[in-house]
Amino acid sequence: MTVGTVPGTAPINGLVSHWYAQLGELPQPRDCLPGTRDADVCIVGAGLTGLWTAYYLKRADPSLRITVLEAEFAGFGASGRNGGWLSGLLPGSRERLAKLYGREGVIALQAAMNAAVDEVIEVAEREELAAGIVKGGTLRVAGTPAQVRRLRAAVRADHDWGVPEVRLLSADEAARRINVAGVRAAAWTPHCARLQPAALVRGLAATVERMGVTIYENSPVIRIERGSAITHRGVLRAPVVLRATEGFTHGLTGHQRTWLPMNSSMIVTERLPAATWQRIGWHGGETLGDTAHGHMYAQRTEDDRIAIGGRGVPYRFASRTDSYGRTQERTVRLLRDVLERMLPQTRGVGVDHAWCGVLAVPRDWCATVGLDRASGLGWAGGYVGHGVTSTNLAGRTLCDLVLRRETELTGLPWVGHRPRGWEPEPLRWLGVRGLYLAYRLADWHESRGLRGTSPIATVANLITRRP
Ligand SMILES: Cc1cc2nc3c(=O)[nH]c(=O)nc-3n(C[C@H](O)[C@H](O)[C@H](O)COP(=O)(O)OP(=O)(O)OC[C@H]3O[C@@H](n4cnc5c(N)ncnc54)[C@H](O)[C@@H]3O)c2cc1C
Repeated sequence: MTVGTVPGTAPINGLVSHWYAQLGELPQPRDCLPGTRDADVCIVGAGLTGLWTAYYLKRADPSLRITVLEAEFAGFGASGRNGGWLSGLLPGSRERLAKLYGREGVIALQAAMNAAVDEVIEVAEREELAAGIVKGGTLRVAGTPAQVRRLRAAVRADHDWGVPEVRLLSADEAARRINVAGVRAAAWTPHCARLQPAALVRGLAATVERMGVTIYENSPVIRIERGSAITHRGVLRAPVVLRATEGFTHGLTGHQRTWLPMNSSMIVTERLPAATWQRIGWHGGETLGDTAHGHMYAQRTEDDRIAIGGRGVPYRFASRTDSYGRTQERTVRLLRDVLERMLPQTRGVGVDHAWCGVLAVPRDWCATVGLDRASGLGWAGGYVGHGVTSTNLAGRTLCDLVLRRETELTGLPWVGHRPRGWEPEPLRWLGVRGLYLAYRLADWHESRGLRGTSPIATVANLITRRP
C-alpha cells in the first residue's frame, strides 16, 4: 500500500504512522510461519525489543537458530510509530525501585540507560541504519509557577541520581534554543537524540535477517507455553521463548491484566519554510517536552516538520487497541492546539498526518525484563513510554540471561522485577479515565497561577503510582 501526504490542513489519519509515509510505503510482509518448526530461541514480537534481542544474541553466538514471530510486520507497533526520542529517561520510578532494590542499583540503571543512547547511535552507524539520528539533548520547558517548581525538583533529583549534566536554563537561554511561548524556565539534558523510528526498526529487522535470524510475519501467537509459541498456522518449538509484545501483551492468553495498553497520539506538520524556522530556532536537534501532567513531546524532523505527541484518549475499554494507528479527530485538534499555543509561529501551518499507538504500563509504573530459567520463558517491556532506548538495554540484558552470563546488566534492578497485575474491567477503565481527567483538571488548576503542584495531581499520582 502506498501512502503519501496531503498538502494543506487535512491529515491522513492512521496507516500506522507518518514515519512509514516518509519511507514511501508500508512494507511488503515477509512469509508467515509455514507450519510447525524448531528453533533454539523464539522471540514473539518484531518491535525493537524483539529485534535488539535477536541482534545481540546472534552477534554473541552466530550458531543460534533464532526465529521471530510477528503478528503483522516488523515495526508495526510502537517501535514504528513513536516520537523518536532516543532518551536516557528511566522507564520507571527511581524511588520505588530504590526502595525495593537499593539506591546504588538505580544509579547503575540510570547510567546504563544514558550509555544505551550512545550504544544505539553506535550500532546505527555500524549497521548503516540511516535513521536520521541527531543527538541534541532534550529541552523541557515550564510555563506556570507550579511547573517551574516541578522542573527545579526534577533537576535536583537528576543530580541526586547521578546525572549532574542536566542544567536549569533561564527563559532567555531556553528561547535561544527553541523559541517556545510563555516559558518561565527550562531544563536541558544531553542524554537524548532524535531519530526516525520506522527507519530504525525496519533497518534493524533487515540487519538481523542478514545475520541469519528468521522473521515470520502475519503470524500472531495465541499462547506462549513452556517450550512453544502457538499460532493458528503451527507451533514454534524452542527451549527459550521470549515475550516482546509490549502494548499488545493483553492479547496473549493469560496476560489480559499484565500491562495496561496506554494510548499515545501524534501529528506531524507539513514542512516548515526557512523563514518560520528562523522565528522558532530549534537548530540543535533537541527533542522538546513540557512539564504538564498531560505532557507533550516533540521533535523537529530530519525533513523540517514538527512531530508532536501527547496522550489524547489514554485507554480504551477492555484494552482495545487502534485500527492501524487511526486516532480520534478531537485528539488531532487537541495536539494542534498545544502546538499553536507553544509555538504560535506555526499558526496556519498544515497538518499532514495523525496517528496513534499503544505502549505498555505496568501497575507500579516500572519496566521489567527477565527470564525464568526453569521454564525458559522470558519477557521485556512495560517501558511506560520510554521504550526507544530501554528496548536496547532490555535486548542486551535478555541476551546475557539467555546465554547464562552474569554481567553488570543482569544485576540491574529491573531484572526479574514482577509488578502485580491491573484491576479487572470495568474498574480499570473507570480508574484510568478518571485519573487522566484529574490530570487535565490539575493542569487547568495550575494554569490559574497555583504556586505548587495541584493537590488533584498529587492524589492521582498516589493512586496511579506514576512517578
Ligand atoms: C505514539 C507513541 C509515541 C512514543 N514516543 C516515544 C518516544 O519518543 N521515546 C520513547 O522512548 N518511547 C516512545 N514510545 C514508546 C516506545 O515506542 C515503545 O515503548 C517501544 O517501541 C516498545 O518496543 P517493543 O518492541 O517492546 O514493542 P512494539 O514496538 O509495540 O512491538 C511489539 C510487536 O509485537 C507484535 N505482536 C503483538 N502481539 C503479538 C502476538 N500475539 N504475536 C506475534 N506478534 C505480536 C506487534 O505487532 C508489534 O510489532 C512511544 C509510543 C507511542 C505509541
